[in-house]
Amino acid sequence: MSWNDLETSISALVPELRSIRHDIHQHPELGFEEVRTQALVRAWLEERGYSPRACAETGLIADLHPDRHGTGPTIALRADIDCLPMEELTDLPYRSVHAGRAHKCGHDGHTTILLGVADLLARRRDAIDGNVRLLFQPAEEGVRGGGAKVMVAEGALEGVDEVYGLHSWPGYPRGELRVCAGPIMAQVHSFTIIITGKGGHGSQPQLCRDPIVAGAHLVTALQTVVSRELGYEGGAVVSVTAFLAGTTDNVIPGSARLLGTIRTFAPAVTERVLARVRGILSGVAATFDVGVDLDLKTGYPVLINDPGCAEAVTRVGREVLGSAKVSDDGLPMAGGEDFAYFAQHTPSAYFFLGAQRPGEDTPVCHHPDFDFDDTLIPLGIQIFVGLVRDRLGALGRAR
Ligand SMILES: [Zn+2]
Ligand SMILES: [Zn+2]
Repeated sequence: MSWNDLETSISALVPELRSIRHDIHQHPELGFEEVRTQALVRAWLEERGYSPRACAETGLIADLHPDRHGTGPTIALRADIDCLPMEELTDLPYRSVHAGRAHKCGHDGHTTILLGVADLLARRRDAIDGNVRLLFQPAEEGVRGGGAKVMVAEGALEGVDEVYGLHSWPGYPRGELRVCAGPIMAQVHSFTIIITGKGGHGSQPQLCRDPIVAGAHLVTALQTVVSRELGYEGGAVVSVTAFLAGTTDNVIPGSARLLGTIRTFAPAVTERVLARVRGILSGVAATFDVGVDLDLKTGYPVLINDPGCAEAVTRVGREVLGSAKVSDDGLPMAGGEDFAYFAQHTPSAYFFLGAQRPGEDTPVCHHPDFDFDDTLIPLGIQIFVGLVRDRLGALGRAR
């Protein structure tokens, strides 16, 4: 098969891919529990002549040309396969059959795109010099996330020259591609702050040390970390996302608990922000005579795109979508993404495919009404296949 009929082959494959996407959507699985999804992907790959091997428990790695791995260039493409621990509130015919589990980040779509790529590459195996490695990664989301880190530790990128990954994003117009060189997604920190005062009767504040008043000042003071400490360039997010205290109207509680997140893109800014947060915490503790304890957790690192790889995505994106549809508008964005671990190891680029439907308030990722936009399946396949052709050609010549 030649590359000339690529678009025809993609169109012919799309109906089957849509039904697979809906099947994955209907049977969502949380991080490191993607047993059914793994089996589905494995069967699809084996039918097409791949010999996939398990990685990071419930992930899979498959090489297009395992015999050529190490002798020529290898390009890796990654899809995340896990769902989120939340309810599906849509009335889609393929809505989640599992309570408390739903594909609300579109990883069902990412997985399907890579299955499509696997099919199209397998049909043209003999026409492809160099190796393509397909990475089906478990556990991108949340507390039990970091599947990418496990895959890297298990050698998923050994002998790989470049890695590419994508995410559908309803924050950008449908059919547009967004990519940039350098930082594209944020370093994540999450925090829990415990304020310990002295509780008592709501009518007797003079006998108490009120953690709610201290907490209210703390929330307000934290708003100045970005606005006053970083100036007009900003480059960070500090959000308090939970304020938990008290039970009723006539009791001053003994403690309050605040949760939140910090997003940054450069180590110097991270240090500055964390130092300022700690300074504010000790200041509030002294001012209001309360105990303030910080539990800070370091999340995914900043995701940094290699300039050459980002340029390749831009070039391929322009070929497929037209120049007007490719830009770095809205980047970097302050989400977190464990593709960062791949990027730390090997030159790579991560990019977004817009999914916002014109004239509509399209539900964003992690919204209960979110559903992956199936019109992105052929686009994602075209970009990934375009990258394979572009990069294997360029790297092959360079050797
Ligand atoms: Zn997500
Ligand atoms: Zn996601």
